[in-house]
Amino acid sequence: MKLKLALHWRILIGMALGVLMGLILSNFDWGKGFVQDWIKPFGKIFINALKLIAIPLILAALIKGVSDLKDISKLSKMGGRTIGIYLTTTIMAVSIGLFLVNLIKPGSSISESTRTEMVSNYSQSTETYKETAKQQKEAGPLKPLEDLVTDNIFASATSNRNMLQVIFFAIFFGIGLILIPEETGRTVKHFFDGFNEVILKMVDLIMLAAPYGVFALLAAIVVEAPSADLFKALGWYSTTVVIGLLVMIAIYTLLVFIFTKRTPRFFINGISPAQLLAFSTSSSAATLPVTMERVTEHLGVEEEAASFVLPIGATINMDGTSLYQAVAAVFIAQAFGMDLDFSTQLGIIATATLASIGSAAVPGAGMVMLVGVMGYAGIPEAGLALIFAVDRPLDMLRTSVNVTGDGAVSMLVAKSVGKLGEPHVKNWDDNYPLNKVE
Ligand code: ASP
Repeated sequence: MKLKLALHWRILIGMALGVLMGLILSNFDWGKGFVQDWIKPFGKIFINALKLIAIPLILAALIKGVSDLKDISKLSKMGGRTIGIYLTTTIMAVSIGLFLVNLIKPGSSISESTRTEMVSNYSQSTETYKETAKQQKEAGPLKPLEDLVTDNIFASATSNRNMLQVIFFAIFFGIGLILIPEETGRTVKHFFDGFNEVILKMVDLIMLAAPYGVFALLAAIVVEAPSADLFKALGWYSTTVVIGLLVMIAIYTLLVFIFTKRTPRFFINGISPAQLLAFSTSSSAATLPVTMERVTEHLGVEEEAASFVLPIGATINMDGTSLYQAVAAVFIAQAFGMDLDFSTQLGIIATATLASIGSAAVPGAGMVMLVGVMGYAGIPEAGLALIFAVDRPLDMLRTSVNVTGDGAVSMLVAKSVGKLGEPHVKNWDDNYPLNKVE
């Protein structure tokens, strides 16, 4: 049977039905338990299947990507551009967040009594975040660099949290492969090329289940969501973050249009399944395999570029997260009646940029790193309790933006090194019109 609906529509329908199911079942006493026992596990299986292939994908894709370059100078050129553009978009995102939060001032709408109530209700829930953040704070300034080089790749590859170490190993291995005679490295290269193809095919197969997976994930999120009253109290704060995130999406489409001449429709059509999955899973790492597939097959980024730019982006480029951290930190300061001067706000740009680089690509990681930003600006940690209730929906949205940013930057880098071609859909999925502006 030929499926007619494009993938992003099928995922959207799955999401809408999941929300509906969650809303209906929330009305029954047994509803929450039913969803947790009988629906949520399917969402977990779906996320696990995606995470399962994240590390093998990074290994195979990066080794293939780097060795395909055949030349170290090409690698350093692409590396320099990747890091440069990632940093630029992140600094842009934090600045937009700061501008909006100073303009809208969502913190001033929080009354003293709401603040006290929220701090006492949620202080317990935020303890683990503070504890993790404290451990990170106690480490020396060069710790992240030190952590990059693992002493055991097999140990690193056993946790999705160690992606940067796996990335380092894969790039290093790829460089080794370039430097040995072609004849000697041929078998290894063929192995990783084939391995990469298999992993991408596995992504196709997992995506067949995506509409059902997101259905289960969203039904569970809805039945477990806190009461709507809390959302109202934090309405202005959430609106500020959402406006900022929408501005970022507009900026990406504009950058893509200006530098690659691909229309916003082309870009959004291509990337949307990855955005929707990022929204449903709150994890850029779990979404990475799909981002990779969309960018190469639907946006025309050649594999050599995508397999280098995207794994790095999924781990260090989190524009949505950095924007959220800036808004959240200043919002909490406002709610506590603190005035942050200009130089402190400039410092927030630097700390939020670094904090987003340091955030793991998993749900809730942005909130852990936010503690560092708040610590720098002297904002009381107890304030975390203020934003806790709406963190999950905002995490879903910021993860979508993180992934969109990775996709957009991969197109820009690819264009700049002559590796942006035409889409070549390899699976059963769908055929998007190219809409390329000449
Ligand atoms: N969940 C986000 C991601 O995986 C990180 C965060 O902001 O918490 O991209």
